[in-house]
Amino acid sequence: MSLKWRIFTAISAIMLIILALLWVCQTVFLNSFYKAVKVYETKQVAEEIAKNMSDEDIEYQIAALSNKHDVSIKVLDADFKSLYAASAREMHSFFGNIPDSEFYSFYKKAVEEGGTYTEYFGGFGITGKGKGDKQADTAKNAPTSFMIAKVTADNAGGYYTIIVNTTITPVDSVITTLRVILIFVTALTVVLVLITALILSAGLSKPLKKISDKAKVLATGDYDVEFEHSTVKEIDELADSLNYAKTELGKMDTLQKELIANISHDLRTPLTLIGGYAEVMRDIPGEATDENLQVIIDESKRLTSLVNDVLDISKLSAGVGQMQPEVLDLKQCIEAIIPRYNKLVEKDRYQILFSYGSIQTAPVYADRTRLEQVIYNLVNNAVTYTGEDKTVRIELLEKADSFAVHIIDSGEGIEEDKLPLIWERYYKVDKAHRRAQMGSGLGLSIVKQILDAHSAAYGVNSTPGEGSDFWFEMKKAGLSA
Ligand code: ADP
Repeated sequence: MSLKWRIFTAISAIMLIILALLWVCQTVFLNSFYKAVKVYETKQVAEEIAKNMSDEDIEYQIAALSNKHDVSIKVLDADFKSLYAASAREMHSFFGNIPDSEFYSFYKKAVEEGGTYTEYFGGFGITGKGKGDKQADTAKNAPTSFMIAKVTADNAGGYYTIIVNTTITPVDSVITTLRVILIFVTALTVVLVLITALILSAGLSKPLKKISDKAKVLATGDYDVEFEHSTVKEIDELADSLNYAKTELGKMDTLQKELIANISHDLRTPLTLIGGYAEVMRDIPGEATDENLQVIIDESKRLTSLVNDVLDISKLSAGVGQMQPEVLDLKQCIEAIIPRYNKLVEKDRYQILFSYGSIQTAPVYADRTRLEQVIYNLVNNAVTYTGEDKTVRIELLEKADSFAVHIIDSGEGIEEDKLPLIWERYYKVDKAHRRAQMGSGLGLSIVKQILDAHSAAYGVNSTPGEGSDFWFEMKKAGLSA
């Protein structure tokens, strides 16, 4: 179902319900509402007179009430002599038509019914319809007036009978008028609903359609499409999300292309070397030296590590190889990695300094292999990029509820605008850098994915020219964990 029709049906449904309610109220219940309100109002008049009977100005009050509510009022004493009387404008002689004996019967009925009695009349005569006679309330023989009798005690131990009478104006003509108005309102509403639906759908579905068309263009690999804003907040948010997705996809695309270029370059160099040295050793006697063999071994190791990086990242992204977290000692973990650099330390005079203050053990909940990979990648980078002093410092710090590891080098650092980028896949800051060329640009991306999976905090503080400080923080493992 299209948006336009959905809006149209929704608004129509609501309008229909409202209209139906209006119809029912105005036509079916109007009569009963009107009568109920009228009876209530008239009873209030009787109550008020009963309450104020001892007032000096009661005669004036009765006249005022009669005038205000358009009712006829008669107050009788215990002997059924008229004390006060006031008439509604159009029915001067009303009470004159009623014999005193009738007033007496009203008084008796009122006493029977606890003080107040209501009687309906089908005209200006007394028809004898009782108050329970609901059938009388039909269009044909609807009551045209009713009378309330109220009995109230006087001060001398006697009583007053208050009679209030009012006409019920027939509402039939009102109903007919309302019906005509309602037909107009209904017709107008339908037209308005249609127009609203059209305008709304133009405002909603058109921009959506535009976005959907552009998304199809994006799907073909054209990253230049621009998702435009409309006048609707949610659609703008969608456009923003798609623009973001577009940028990210574009970046991924560029990075992937770069990776293929990088990897093929990175693969070609060691492969050429290996092939070249092997041929030399085969063809030229005396060239099968240990040194030449070492070149082949080193280059094949470089190949292996490169291929491993690529495999790791694709495994991590695909979620293959579930994490197997356990409680382990972060300090031990770091200590186990340092000897891997022994050769570097001995041969090239690198210094890898590990400080952990007074920490005895640093229990954290993590996947051992992955955590080692994080530390290893960070230390590798630090070794690669550190400065002339060839020093890498590893610091283990204890915090309130976590352990922090800092891996600090004294190299050229990273410019601030590049900081968020280095965690991205295949990103390398300085492609011309000799040593940087050795990396795959995947190391930090692997670190990021692993630390994210451990919900660990991590980051880098770096000052260009002074070095970098890569850190991560892992929650302390509870003793029971
Ligand atoms: P690579 O394999 O190229 O080292 P990484 O993902 O590990 O890839 O790092 C991405 C980029 O971040 C590197 O190319 C480098 O430019 C920068 N980088 C990483 N670690 C450091 C560091 N300790 N000092 C300076 N630059 C660094």
